Amino acid sequence: MTSKKEEFDRSIKERLKQKQFVKNPINGTKHTLLVSSAKGGVGKSTVAVNLAFALQNLGLKIGILDADIYGPSLPKLINLNEKPKSEDGKAMIPLEKFNAQCMSMGFLVDEQTPMIWRGPMVISALKTMTQKVLWKDRDLIIIDMPPGTGDTQLTFAQEIKIDAAIIVSTPQDLALLDVKRGIQMFDKTGVKVLGLIDNMSYFEGDDGKQYKIFGEGGVEKTAKEFNKDFLGKIPLNQDLRNSADNGDPLTHSNPDHEISKIFKSIAEKIIQFYQ
Ligand code: ADP
Repeated sequence: MTSKKEEFDRSIKERLKQKQFVKNPINGTKHTLLVSSAKGGVGKSTVAVNLAFALQNLGLKIGILDADIYGPSLPKLINLNEKPKSEDGKAMIPLEKFNAQCMSMGFLVDEQTPMIWRGPMVISALKTMTQKVLWKDRDLIIIDMPPGTGDTQLTFAQEIKIDAAIIVSTPQDLALLDVKRGIQMFDKTGVKVLGLIDNMSYFEGDDGKQYKIFGEGGVEKTAKEFNKDFLGKIPLNQDLRNSADNGDPLTHSNPDHEISKIFKSIAEKIIQFYQ
């Protein structure tokens, strides 16, 4: 019986053999960074957006591309719900919020519309979102990926020029198994994995004690195992959750918050790669 890993390795190899992919750049930006997670609900979008503003606080001109076609979360995270304009009817002008240029499928479809598209439609939407958006004068575009290692991830990894990726996980074993798969996918498609972030790492009680609700040390261990950097631990924190729900990311609304400082240290590590 073939293991899931063997099956996965084979499917990637077959996809790679099918054709030589041409990697298209995203215009209007110097660099790109994928924020990915192998499993949903680990806080990937929260981390992506807070990291984006932490990088902005360090002086970068940023763009945020929410590539989660099925479950876009950027409109809610930055409380923005306008339709992007187009001057020629072909390319869209990204929306602007808190000095960041932003694009999300959520700006284009009604919040109530369920996304029941098939793979090819998703891939075509992604191509529009990457090739038909007039990003302007950006240092870095942070791309919030949908969870998993499916078609969207492969499309990005194979057909769009991506400098690097980071992977967000919780310390749970279940999430970690998927993380290993994610690392292998990026490695095989030539996207540099800058490192792993351990989100919901612990909860700090009023007693000052750290409670390891989802376990401990697994993300760091996985990073070591695959020879990747461990970028940092983000605790479960109510202010972070509130700011996400209020549509003003904590690193933007309160850059001096202890959690914003953690994002700052991760942002500094990421910037080193681009220098
Ligand atoms: P994903 O993008 O991985 O599906 P989200 O970023 O949407 O996950 O986060 C899922 C939920 O968890 C959201 O309600 C978010 O506010 C919350 N959340 C994420 N990270 C944290 C954290 N470190 N502390 C508290 N809440 C968090």
